Amino acid sequence: MLTAKNVYLDYAATTPLDAAVLEAMLPYFNVVYGNPSSIYSYGREARRAVDDARRRVATAIGAEAGEVFFTSGGSESDNWAVKGVMLREENQDKRFITSQIEHHAILHTAARLEKQGIDVVYLPVDEEGFVQYDALVNCLREKTALVSIMHANNEIGTVEHIAEYSQIAHQNGALFHTDAVQTFGSIPVDVNKLGVDLLSISGHKIYGPKGVGALYVRKGTLIDSFIDGGAQERGKRAGTENVPGIVGLGKAAEIACGRLGVFEDRVTRYRDYFISRICSEIPCARINGSLSSRLPGNVSVTFEGIDGSTMLMKLDQKGVFASSGSACTAGSLDPSHVLTAIGRTEKEASQTVRFTIGLLTELDEIDHVLELLREIITELK
Ligand SMILES: *Cc1c(COP(=O)(O)O)cnc(C)c1O
Repeated sequence: MLTAKNVYLDYAATTPLDAAVLEAMLPYFNVVYGNPSSIYSYGREARRAVDDARRRVATAIGAEAGEVFFTSGGSESDNWAVKGVMLREENQDKRFITSQIEHHAILHTAARLEKQGIDVVYLPVDEEGFVQYDALVNCLREKTALVSIMHANNEIGTVEHIAEYSQIAHQNGALFHTDAVQTFGSIPVDVNKLGVDLLSISGHKIYGPKGVGALYVRKGTLIDSFIDGGAQERGKRAGTENVPGIVGLGKAAEIACGRLGVFEDRVTRYRDYFISRICSEIPCARINGSLSSRLPGNVSVTFEGIDGSTMLMKLDQKGVFASSGSACTAGSLDPSHVLTAIGRTEKEASQTVRFTIGLLTELDEIDHVLELLREIITELK
C-alpha cells in the first residue's frame, strides 16, 4: 500500500485517477448502465454521455467530434493507426516509415508488418533523440503510405518537431500519425497545428482511467476498421462502448486542457530544479534527451558506475517509485532501444533511471529524493 511517506515519480507510466473524474464515471457503472445502442432512456442517456465525452476530447485536441474514435488505450490506438492504413489493399506495395525510438505499440506492430512483407524503415535519431529530417526526406523518395513519429518520447522526454515532419510527409503523398500519449495533457496538442492525420491518446496518462484511449482520424482519411462486429464507433471499432471509461477520458481531457498552462509551468519548474540539482550535486550523473524541447515532467538520468536496477531497488526500499526507462520494459534484461538509439552504450543504458514528475509532486519530495540519491550513490560506489 502507498503511505504518506512514499514518493511517486513515475507519472509517465501511469497517473492516479482524479477524484472529479472518478465521480463523473461512477453513475455509469450501476445507475446509467444502459447500452448506448439501446433506444430506451437508459440507453439514450449512456449514448449522450459518450457523445459528450467525444466532444470534450475533440475540443481538447482541436478536432471535430466525428474525428474521435474511442479505443481501449494508447496501444490499441497505435496498432489501429498503423495496421488500419498499411494493411489496406492500395498500400500493399508502399512503405511505412517510423523511428527507432517509438513505443513498442508501434515498433512491434511494425515488426509484424515487416513479416507480412511490408517495407518498413526505422529512422535514426540524433544524440538528443530528434528524428533526422534529412533522413526522413530521403526515405520518402520511395512511395510511402504512412509515417508515424511520436510527439514525445516516454523514456527520454524529447518532444519531436512534428509539424515539420508531417508537412514533408504530406508533400510526398504520405499520411502522418503521431503517438501523443505522453504529450496530451502536458503540453498543447492541436491536430491542426501538428498537421497530423492520425493521433493516439490514452486515459491513464492524464489522470483518467486505464483501459480507455482514443484515436483521432482526420476527416476523409482512408483507414480500415479495427474490430469487426457491431456498428459502434461508426462501424470502425465494434464492441459495446466502455461507457464509464469513455466518460472518464472525456472528463480527464477537459480538466487537463483547463489547467494546461498551470500544469506545464509548475511541472517544468520542478523538473528544472531537479535536473539542475542533480547536475550540480551528483558528478556521475548525465541527463538524457533534449534540454530545450522536453516533456515538462521528464528527468531521465544515467548514473555512471551505478547499476540502475540496484538504484531502483534501493529507492523502492525507501518508498521512492521511479523506473528504469519505460514501464513496459521493466523486468526485461534487454537494454532500452531508446537509450541505445541516442548513442548510450548497453552499460550506460543499464545505469539509467527515469523519474517523471506530475500533478501531485511537491518540492520537498524532490529534495528528499536528491538526498537519498546522494546516500545511495555513496553506498554503492
Ligand atoms: C503509455 C504509452 C502507450 C500505451 O498506452 P496504454 O494506454 O497504456 O496502452 C503508448 N505510447 C506511449 C508513448 C506511452 O507512453
